[in-house]
Amino acid sequence: MFKKSDLRAAIRHEGHLSRRLFLGCLSSVAAVPWLPHQGWVNARPVFQQNPFALGVASGDPDSRSVVLWTRLAPDPVGVDGGMPPEAVEVRWEVANDENFTDIVAAGTRVARPQLGHAVHIEVENLEADRWYWYRFHAGDATSPIGRTRTLPAGDVLPAQMTFAFASCQNYEQGLFTAYEQMATEELDLVFHLGDYIYEGSGREGKTRQHFGPEIESLADYRTRHAQYRSDPLLHAMHARCPWFVTWDDHEFDNNYANEVSEKEGVDPAEFLYRRMNAYQAYYEAMPLRRRSMPRGADMQLYRRADFGRLANFLVMDTRQYRTDQPNDDSQVPLNEAALDPQNTIMGREQKQWLYQNLIASPATWNVLAQQVMMGMVTMSQKGDPDKYVMDQWPGYAHERMELMRFLQDRKISNPVVLTGDIHSNWVNDLRVDDRQVEQPVVATEFVGTSITSGGNGEAKPYFHDLLMANNPLLKFCNFERGYVKCTVTPTQWRSDYMVVSDVLQPGGEVACRASFVVENGQAGAQPTA
Ligand code: FE
Ligand code: CA
Repeated sequence: MFKKSDLRAAIRHEGHLSRRLFLGCLSSVAAVPWLPHQGWVNARPVFQQNPFALGVASGDPDSRSVVLWTRLAPDPVGVDGGMPPEAVEVRWEVANDENFTDIVAAGTRVARPQLGHAVHIEVENLEADRWYWYRFHAGDATSPIGRTRTLPAGDVLPAQMTFAFASCQNYEQGLFTAYEQMATEELDLVFHLGDYIYEGSGREGKTRQHFGPEIESLADYRTRHAQYRSDPLLHAMHARCPWFVTWDDHEFDNNYANEVSEKEGVDPAEFLYRRMNAYQAYYEAMPLRRRSMPRGADMQLYRRADFGRLANFLVMDTRQYRTDQPNDDSQVPLNEAALDPQNTIMGREQKQWLYQNLIASPATWNVLAQQVMMGMVTMSQKGDPDKYVMDQWPGYAHERMELMRFLQDRKISNPVVLTGDIHSNWVNDLRVDDRQVEQPVVATEFVGTSITSGGNGEAKPYFHDLLMANNPLLKFCNFERGYVKCTVTPTQWRSDYMVVSDVLQPGGEVACRASFVVENGQAGAQPTA
């Protein structure tokens, strides 16, 4: 069991390291005032400051392999993270034990300035369904130790898996206390559903302050990612278990749709140039496989993960391929523009990929890990016509209903949708058309609140009661901060809504606000007693 006191000690240790070492650039650079030629690699870099200030991470495991990640940045928000423009050798090790007495794989990789001195190691030929420990070395510096795991083999039905999902972690609006608690849980995986960073300029008077103005260049996006990841609670959670990450809008720009900005008159070519910067910095900052390395302004992020035959996760990207939000991205009744069959939130290829994988899946639970709310929730006041948010699935209502019909007609086993974006907790019973209560429930949606975005949030009893009264699909809604912990077995899915009492100061208390279960073979969530 990992205790909070261990985590605090680890953080103190890291703080000690960086205090002990002086600020400055690599001493080897001082001797080389010109750019080294392309093939040259510094195998013995000397650091004046801990180059592993961003910690380590792992991600995208399957039953045989996993990605190990680090990015050298001795001065996270400094120019180029405090790294000189030279290639640096990084060594990595994977062991069966946390003392590294039984090393099972090791190697070297060159960290290049062209990729922000990030390294992504895909370690192959591992054993299925087991934990490993890993670390990196550069020069005389050694990284913190990370723990990771492989997934069970595809033909195995595991007795249980436990994971958490999170989203929306605006650095300015609160502290990452939720991750401090999450690190005490025994989790197999974490899913991050987007808004990992926010692109806005630094503002005074908040809990913390973004470094610099609104981010646009590659250097800006890199620095913003580095500022977030230098948070010790965040990188400690990355070191605890592998993550599957996907993005929403703020990793690039608020409410974007493919190459369309939310702002009028932005040249799509200019906008795609900025998207290229955002996507590259995202790839560099995350434990992603080579398949996700960006090509220009495009990046392959949607992908599948199988936890044996227990759960099949389809990690989606509803930003990169969507058509522009109809009705000027406002809240409107489901009019002709919202129901237009030309609207797509997935894009044709991703939709085909999704359908094919769902049809072929042998899994008990089929999980869509994605960004924006699928439930057709109206936030209208009583007496007003029902209005829906066009940035969410109701703006793509035809495709959404088609997906629900597909799940129903093809009898897809236990569809569960996981969602972020909306900075509040929701449990939704999904139907082909959620406005028609007499229709059978097809799938269950668990929407998780933000880690920090929106500050402490507000319990608004009036608004809560209005939402519950106007939306028969709703089983729960709540406006606190936190994350959702899921425990999945062959017979039952359980979601625990973990909430943090206060994200504006350290030491917020974490409690389980509500728990819901879905029984195998019966769509729809039930509250636990
Ligand atoms: Fe958000
Ligand atoms: Ca969002």
